[in-house]
Amino acid sequence: VVRLVDVMKVFRMGQEEVQALRGVSLEIKAGEYLSIMGPSGSGKTTLFNMIGALDKPTSGRVFIDEVDVAQLDAYELAWLRCRKIGYIFQTFNLIQVMTAIENVTLPMIFAGMGRDESMDKGMELLKLVGLAERYQHKPSELSGGQQQRVAVARALANDPAIILADEPTGNLDLTTGEEIISLLKDLSQERGVTIISATHDLKMISVSDRVVWIRDGRIDRIEDREKLKISVGQVL
Ligand code: ATP
Repeated sequence: VVRLVDVMKVFRMGQEEVQALRGVSLEIKAGEYLSIMGPSGSGKTTLFNMIGALDKPTSGRVFIDEVDVAQLDAYELAWLRCRKIGYIFQTFNLIQVMTAIENVTLPMIFAGMGRDESMDKGMELLKLVGLAERYQHKPSELSGGQQQRVAVARALANDPAIILADEPTGNLDLTTGEEIISLLKDLSQERGVTIISATHDLKMISVSDRVVWIRDGRIDRIEDREKLKISVGQVL
């Protein structure tokens, strides 16, 4: 579903240049659960923004379902971000003045879905993440884990093929983090959703199909499930 070809990203700040990505090529398959790991400043978020069509590479190409993202106009890009990709952030990024159900239905309304249909679907998604009874609660009335579950439901609003999760368990305790991980794992296994997450969470990594290790703007190595069992086993 996602293919990166020799992606480079340079940030220019006055006279200074930061080479955040130095030629990354990567193919991510449909239904794959992929984790991106690497030290602070290695380029994970930058890579993540490229995969999610949130930022443009300085050079190289990003294809989503074989469509070259650089060829899309603003309308097509908005469509891609709203319909094809669901985003989950470390800080949840829910709209504070809206209730759980309003947060979840908002992307559907943007996509043109009617009120009744979006309400039904929103409730179904809140049920999926175990929060149906809290549908009228605002984020400030929910725990961190519950807020992240609302964010997962919102990410699923328009049946995206891809979910991009930037440190989705970063602000959660161990048990709540594990709940979010198994929710994401079920989505990839049962619904065929491609999950791509930048993470430091070893539990998250241990359930991944592949882990991409980034170092200094380059792919250092890619480990698949078999290899992972050994290296994660040594740490856990
Ligand atoms: P962390 O784990 O600390 O979040 P990261 O691996 O996600 O780090 P990036 O945020 O991708 O790292 O940053 C990679 C490099 O690019 C860093 O040196 C960073 O300072 C630089 N960088 C990132 N975004 C910008 C920007 N908008 N302008 C200038 N430099 C940037």
